[in-house]
Amino acid sequence: MNKPLDRDLQVRDIPHFVNGREVPGTSGRASDVFNPATGQVTGRVALASEAEVDAAVQAAKAAFPAWAATPPLKRARILFKLKELIERDSDALAAAITAEHGKVFSDAKGEVTRGLEVVEFACGIPQLLKGEYTEQIGTGIDSWSVRQALGVCAGITPFNFPVMVPMWMFPVALATGNTFILKPSERDPTASLMMAALLKEAGLPDGVFNVVQGDKAAVDALLHHPDVAAISFVGSTPIAKYIYETGAKHGKRVQALGGAKNHLVVMPDADLNQAVDALVGAAYGSAGERCMAISVAVAVGNVADKLVEKLSERARTLKITQGMDDAAEMGPLVTKVHLDKVTGYVKQGEAEGAKLVVDGRGLKVPGHEDGFFIGGCLFDNVKTDMTIYREEIFGPVLSVVRVPDFETALQLVNDHAFGNGTSIFTRDGDSAREFAMRCQIGMVGINVPIPVPMAFHSFGGWKQSLFGDHHMYGPEGVRFFTRMKTITSRWPTGIRAGADFMMPTMK
Ligand code: NAD
Repeated sequence: MNKPLDRDLQVRDIPHFVNGREVPGTSGRASDVFNPATGQVTGRVALASEAEVDAAVQAAKAAFPAWAATPPLKRARILFKLKELIERDSDALAAAITAEHGKVFSDAKGEVTRGLEVVEFACGIPQLLKGEYTEQIGTGIDSWSVRQALGVCAGITPFNFPVMVPMWMFPVALATGNTFILKPSERDPTASLMMAALLKEAGLPDGVFNVVQGDKAAVDALLHHPDVAAISFVGSTPIAKYIYETGAKHGKRVQALGGAKNHLVVMPDADLNQAVDALVGAAYGSAGERCMAISVAVAVGNVADKLVEKLSERARTLKITQGMDDAAEMGPLVTKVHLDKVTGYVKQGEAEGAKLVVDGRGLKVPGHEDGFFIGGCLFDNVKTDMTIYREEIFGPVLSVVRVPDFETALQLVNDHAFGNGTSIFTRDGDSAREFAMRCQIGMVGINVPIPVPMAFHSFGGWKQSLFGDHHMYGPEGVRFFTRMKTITSRWPTGIRAGADFMMPTMK
């Protein structure tokens, strides 16, 4: 699909969405939004003040009682309608992602589909909210447990999945009866307003879903607000930790997903072509701007030389151009600041002694000379004390670490501070089983490079990749967005036994 890059050439003002309508920013602060393929500013997104955040919270608070009391089946019907509307508008949503994030259009369509799957999951909410009941818990006494909504919930999301990550949160939050405030990334905010409009069209009452655009000031206002009951966060580890600690200090339920450094272990018996295909897609897809991207290839035993040779061939020949070009395999990075950061890591890797086999720096795409492009980069002989190994780069930079055997590979995975995803490529069931059982990682692939769980399971990492108790969406999402209430009931028939002063026990 070779569409024009910008939906219009004017710089648009990007507003908030509160109580069922778009609301222009009034703080006097705004931030530039770029088309990463051209380097041009295409929008100015409002940055909310504390007062603007409060207005959204008040709208969500006012809408909560009626929405929480709406029968789950009626809420589900709105989500069914939303599903249809997302399917109708999936091209437009994907084009909006490409225009502000830079990822290729087919990948953006994949993102919309993965988000849609959570809407589909949330359509089953009448079944998911069924409680537990015990008849005759004591003589003449019955007891049951239900899960009820929390109140106003907020979602704070990263730039790399402007549709999918909000959809990890709000379909389940809304289905369970909460009202919701989305604070999307200020780098690609347009899709948030499109989703708000689709929810309204689907029949969602005003105030149930709101968007506040913004930066740290908006996030802090949500974290401190006494009427916000829960915070779902996805982003980098330092901010995730800050969100978790600050939110908890202010009495909120928090799930905060952080960064990653995902290893793919290639065993000597692996099908090398399959492993190389997997590594190339998982390391360079979306220009490495995925929390489940593979950034470390662990070459076990004698597999390393062949692996590096094949990978370097592929990294050199990636088709890199603007994301609406059908031929594109990889687009630009999101901003110039991020491009400079990634380029800085490549420089540091060289300085620390890793072997830069493929250097993608300085790539110029004809016709898009001002775009934020970098080619695929490949390092060999990366050591565990190097910065490029320890830190998340979040760009198209793959590091190969050579290890002698399976145990060393497993130890490497387990010693890393992050624990989001990992994968093993092997033909040996015993190695695969042992790896899955013993790795200290939240999501594991066996001959699958990016093991993102489907919507009816749940997504989350371990160690520095997640702060909080619950993974996101799926059954864990239902638990996060609800709290349990247990009712014990007796209907005595007029016989009074008098007051009981001891702990009630079953007689
Ligand atoms: P980020 O942490 O910079 O921003 C995430 C959100 O936090 C944004 O909405 C942003 O406005 C807000 N924010 C930024 N700085 C803040 C501050 N100082 N105080 C309060 N709020 C602040 O992350 P990003 O660059 O947008 O996204 C990339 C990161 O997200 C990567 O680290 C990636 O691994 C991670 N990520 C993780 C997952 C996961 O599931 N674990 C998924 C996607 C992305």
